[in-house]
Amino acid sequence: MKKVYNFSAGPAILPREAMEAGSRACLEFQGMGMSLLEISHRSKEYEAVVADACAIVKELLGVPDGYKVLFLQGGASLQFAMVPMNLLGENETAAYLNSGVWADKAIKEAKLFGSVNVVASSKDANYTFIPKDYAVPADAQYFHVTSNNTIYGTQLQRFPESPVPLVSDMSSDIFSRPVDVSKFGLIYAGAQKNMGIAGTTLVIIREDWLGKNKRKLPSMLDYKVHADNDSMYNTPPAFAIYMALETLKWVKAQGGVQAMQKRNEEKAALLYGEIDRNPSFKGTCAVEDRSRMNITFVMNKPELEGAFLKEAEAAGLSGLKGHRSVGGFRASVYNAMGLDGVQALVDVMRNFDQKNS
Ligand SMILES: *Cc1c(COP(=O)(O)O)cnc(C)c1O
Repeated sequence: MKKVYNFSAGPAILPREAMEAGSRACLEFQGMGMSLLEISHRSKEYEAVVADACAIVKELLGVPDGYKVLFLQGGASLQFAMVPMNLLGENETAAYLNSGVWADKAIKEAKLFGSVNVVASSKDANYTFIPKDYAVPADAQYFHVTSNNTIYGTQLQRFPESPVPLVSDMSSDIFSRPVDVSKFGLIYAGAQKNMGIAGTTLVIIREDWLGKNKRKLPSMLDYKVHADNDSMYNTPPAFAIYMALETLKWVKAQGGVQAMQKRNEEKAALLYGEIDRNPSFKGTCAVEDRSRMNITFVMNKPELEGAFLKEAEAAGLSGLKGHRSVGGFRASVYNAMGLDGVQALVDVMRNFDQKNS
């Protein structure tokens, strides 16, 4: 197979080891003579997959007692609605930080269910920074923040102080660094950025938030129903949960989220160093808010961007085209991307600049 470095924002690069385990499981799972894709989700072999996946999430993030780990469907986008549907009453307020398009979508859904206080927004600046000076109302049910803004390349370097529990969309940086889970009422993440493939969404929720429903809910949209059934109320996305388990086993084998943080800091330092040094390129967002997962940059001569992209693709660098709302380039350097991939990109940037300046 031709060596390609996958810089795509999502679905995204996965550890080789996880894909090999997934390939084997597709043919035969644990000596059962059947594929993982065809066995009952009620088999003891598969129940162990879900139990192990929950356990490794707790272990890697140091999830304290009093939280439930769930694997749901519907992507992070369904969580935009499920969070307020479960936790925000019609006459109550939730606080939201508008730091990107995903946050904006979460706000739109929350408005269907209660009142939304957008404490700050960087929308007018095309989300090139994360707003910092704001007050969170003490009577809010929760304060929703997006930990990493996948499209714009900004990331919360630390989570804000808040008088009310945080709810966070961590779709694009979960398991990339340690987090203090006790500050959060709920954390959610679609799997396909940094922890597996599309099809499942991780939810970590405070147990005392289960069943405090603010309205009548269909069973499939009620966190408590999923919690009471250990994510097996209905047929779970069996293969997606298995891929999450194998991806997280790889994270653990690398040394866990501390090791991931170190690796991600090294990669980001290498690439941002080149963006700042190389006269052909420049970053797109506030330096102090720069993401270690999605690194966005443009060219000082935008007319050269097509040529650069071609050259990068010829060198085996895939998925670098920036999101249409930012333009330029976006290098997604999730956990599974090694320093060698980032070095390959830096080499192409250097060569391009030397040839074209
Ligand atoms: C990709 C992404 C989403 C949307 O995820 P889906 O699983 O496709 O619904 C939401 N939030 C963030 C931060 C994302 O990066």
